[in-house]
Amino acid sequence: MRDSFGREINYLRISVTDLCNLRCRYCMPQDGIPKLSHEDILSVEEIEILARAFVNLGINKIRLTGGEPLVRRGILDIIERIAKLEGIKDLAITTNGVLLKNLAYELKSRGLKRVNISLDTLKEEKYKYITRIGNIKDVFDGIEAAKKVGLTPIKINTVLVRGFNDDEIEDLARLTEQEEIDVRFIELMPIGEALKNESIGYVSNKIVLEKLPELIPLKRKDPSSPAVYYKLPNAKGRIGLINPISCKFCKHCNRVRLTAQGKLKLCLHSDEEVDLREVLKNRCSIESIIIDAVNK
Ligand code: SAM
Ligand code: SF4
Repeated sequence: MRDSFGREINYLRISVTDLCNLRCRYCMPQDGIPKLSHEDILSVEEIEILARAFVNLGINKIRLTGGEPLVRRGILDIIERIAKLEGIKDLAITTNGVLLKNLAYELKSRGLKRVNISLDTLKEEKYKYITRIGNIKDVFDGIEAAKKVGLTPIKINTVLVRGFNDDEIEDLARLTEQEEIDVRFIELMPIGEALKNESIGYVSNKIVLEKLPELIPLKRKDPSSPAVYYKLPNAKGRIGLINPISCKFCKHCNRVRLTAQGKLKLCLHSDEEVDLREVLKNRCSIESIIIDAVNK
């Protein structure tokens, strides 16, 4: 499927829930968000039908996200159903890793290929501060479990927050030295809670290059990846920089997003949505609605 700019759209991100078991200060309000009723979010069956329509149109990479995807009831079923779709080459999740220890084996056996794990600090107290309620040991255990069952290559996502974790860039980067783990530094986007919370400040990813002048730039393998990759000398893993603020990557965008309520979002910078659940209810052709939306 190509859009009107000739970009090939082959990547779908599905949010399977808005709920989360953490309250990261830049993402969630302290009390969480109101729980939607079961009927208001896509059912497991609806997710499968919609995923199949996208795959029929050429989507071959699907990532499940949230909220926290591992708190979604039926997540294993969702993974199994999507993994079985013919044409799927890559099925991954982005998770905070808290529940991964107990779920890693089952996730792998249902067909999940790999995980991105979000971790903004390596220090227990700071982790508790930024997530408000999290225990960092759960994430470390989750990373170990993911390695053990082969949910690899593992990518660690770190959102850089001024004055909070800019002093840990070197330590986080060192995680790539001994193992094939990628650590990706993400610039904080001024959205949601990040806008409201004054203690949460933006810092440009340029700081990573300043702190780690020894980084070796790597050739871009996948132009649609938002990350630009580097390597520490002799390291096994890579360091990625994702710069949504200081460097736009729209030109190579290959992705669309589906919300937990079934709304298709075509661009992070636009509020426009297409309600695919309505389309499902009215028994119209999902494929043609998706093609129209992508063309627009
Ligand atoms: N709960 C899962 C997790 O934390 O990995 C998946 C959903 S979370 C919204 C996905 C990613 O978005 C996480 O890596 C998180 O750190 C990042 N994120 C959330 N708010 C952000 C913001 N304002 N700017 C940049 N990244 C953000
Ligand atoms: Fe939850 Fe992920 Fe948001 Fe943190 S970043 S509050 S883990 S959804």
